[in-house]
Amino acid sequence: MDALLPLEDAIAAVLAEVRPLGAERVALADALGRVLAEPALSATDLPPFPSSSMDGFALRAADTPGVLAVVGHSAAGVPWTGELGAGQAVGIATGAVVPAVADAVIPIERVVVKDNSVEVEACERGANIRLPGGDVERGAVVLPAGSELGAAQLAALAAAGVPAVACARRPRVRVLVTGTELRAAGEELRPGEIYESNGTLIRAALSGEADVELLAPVRDDEAAHTEALARALEADVALTSGGVSVGPHDLVRAVAAGLGVTERFWRVAVKPGKPVLFGTRGHTLLFGLPGNPVSVLVGLELFVRPALRALQGTADPGPRFEPARLARPARLDPARTVFLRARLEDGVVDPLSGQESHMIVRAAAANALVHLPRGEGELAAGEPVRIIRLR
Ligand code: AMP
Ligand code: MG
Repeated sequence: MDALLPLEDAIAAVLAEVRPLGAERVALADALGRVLAEPALSATDLPPFPSSSMDGFALRAADTPGVLAVVGHSAAGVPWTGELGAGQAVGIATGAVVPAVADAVIPIERVVVKDNSVEVEACERGANIRLPGGDVERGAVVLPAGSELGAAQLAALAAAGVPAVACARRPRVRVLVTGTELRAAGEELRPGEIYESNGTLIRAALSGEADVELLAPVRDDEAAHTEALARALEADVALTSGGVSVGPHDLVRAVAAGLGVTERFWRVAVKPGKPVLFGTRGHTLLFGLPGNPVSVLVGLELFVRPALRALQGTADPGPRFEPARLARPARLDPARTVFLRARLEDGVVDPLSGQESHMIVRAAAANALVHLPRGEGELAAGEPVRIIRLR
């Protein structure tokens, strides 16, 4: 039996083949989940002007404590245009422009208002004033290249006056599900048939990072495989499920070779998902995932998601491990890195019952994969482990 490739080497081999995709301009409204191809620079000082952080009165600290005449009001978006004299104050709202000369804002809760004057206690210079550019200065970097754009990042860009950004092109993924036994949910199962679930899994798992197109599932037939895989290989990433093991109906490797794919590895020292195939044709990456649904779930996190991130130039493509502690003992495998489906709560990770690689319904209760390194014996409860979060 030929030796299995260590998992770390397999991940490195995938990332070594990634050629980053080009960039395109994307409006903020369409940029969720995208990756910046260039640093994004602020179009403004933020805040753009000295701004009050409180509802209260703008004044000169040197005039306090004392009774000050209220000579106007500065509202958000409606600055007061007068000139503040000695012994005077201006009512001010949160986010409104602090008038020139004023150097402090006293909150409304701390004054006594009488007719057209306020009695104020002693104030420090600069109190409750947000300085222009205090968050970011005009022309400064809001987010560096390689940033992944989530809600907070998009809000930062919007606040900095950036309407659109240069993003890596979204990877195009074509998915080919193989297996004569597969039927769609809603259809009647005939003897020996099962419901197809990998296509659903792959599309849902990857749609945040890629444009995923599912091709029609194919039977275990060479001509059908060849035609469909040829189409899949037109994408940036071709993904297959099933048919990649050693059985007589496992056709993906041979068909891929016939279509000019260079095999980079086949069979990795990982459980589940050992018979995974990785190859390239030109810049296209081919991942041949085994058919068992849990093998697909794990293979997507270990190989495919990091590749999709790397294609977009993410600084840290992953797989992204986080530390946790085991809730109960776990047996190690001397030959393979093991990933258990588990519940993560408060940093403690508890492997689920039902760890066989066909048990996708059991796996649906998991929110994390626990990484168990190759080794002898078992890890005790409380031992530190690494986990990958499932979304
Ligand atoms: P294979 O890798 O083709 O030998 O498939 C391994 C196991 O996964 C078999 O029990 C298949 O029936 C099952 N399987 C393959 N493809 C799918 C799929 N798309 N959805 C659900 N189960 C599958
Ligand atoms: Mg099959």
